[in-house]
Order: sequence, then structure tokens, then C-alpha cells
Amino acid sequence: MAIERTLCIIKPDGVRNQNIGNIVAMIQAAGFRILGLKLTRISPAVAGEFYGVHKERPFYGELVNFMSSGAIVPIALEKENAIADWRALIGSTDPAEAAEGTIRKKYATSKGENAVHGSDSVENGINEVAFFFAESELINNA
Ligand code: GDP
Repeated sequence: MAIERTLCIIKPDGVRNQNIGNIVAMIQAAGFRILGLKLTRISPAVAGEFYGVHKERPFYGELVNFMSSGAIVPIALEKENAIADWRALIGSTDPAEAAEGTIRKKYATSKGENAVHGSDSVENGINEVAFFFAESELINNA
């Protein structure tokens, strides 16, 4: 299996609910390497750019408002099969449908405020990590 990158974002609800540590513990227990991690806040314009693919969706405005409503923690992750493994660990978009033991089942509060982001393809993993981190900021102790 190939080594892949994926972008985790601990969303504003995850930060507000004091789940940064819990989520990072689950990331490390699952064997992901953390290449970069920062506490930051994004403007509505930057949130809109990041979620540009959802521009036509009815929830776009709500999503942009939410993602710019407070601090977030982008985390650049790497491991074999990272895209699928991270999506399995975070669970379904809607926590009501998320499997037992997943991050969203444990920490998400609704379909919109669902604790974490995960990239949905190998290409998006690379691009989304680059959206938040310069290559020179990433640390690889593999
Ligand atoms: P993901 O890949 O599981 O994060 O889900 P999507 O790519 O379908 O949606 C991106 C993000 O938009 C989700 O993680 C939610 O934060 C948000 N979102 C998706 N569907 C809804 C919805 O019906 N209402 C609201 N408010 N937000 C939504």
C-alpha cells in the first residue's frame, strides 16, 4: 500500500469542546505520523476557498460561517493508506450514522458541527495539506 497524506482539521466545535487532546490521542493510537500541527483561525474568505468544491451546496454558507467561527487545528498526517484509514477512523459525516468508536461518533454534535475534517482522495490530501502548511514546515521522522 502506498504512503499517503491526509489533512485532519479539528473543527471549531472540537476545539471549543476541549477535544484537541482526545482527537490527537486517537490519531497517534491509530499509527498516523503527524507531520505538522497548528492552532489557527481562518476568515470566512479562506474557509470559502478551502470548501470551494461545495459552493453550490445548500449548506455552504453555514459551513463557511461555522469553520470561521473559532480556532481550528489543522494537522498534516501521513501513513500507508492514510486517506481510507483516516475516513474510517473519523466515521460518517452525520454522527448519528457514524460507527461506534469513531471520532465523529464520540465527539461530533451534528452533521455540520462534526469535530473533524478528512481529505477524500489522494490528490486532495496532498493539496489540502499544502493549503495549510508550507512543505518546509512539515517534519518527517519516519
Ligand atoms: P465529509 O467529507 O464527511 O466531511 O462530508 P462532505 O464533504 O459531504 O461535507 C463537508 C462538510 O460540510 C461536512 O463535514 C460538514 O461539516 C458540512 N456539511 C455536510 N452536510 C451538511 C449539512 O447538511 N448541513 C450542514 N450545516 N453542514 C453540512
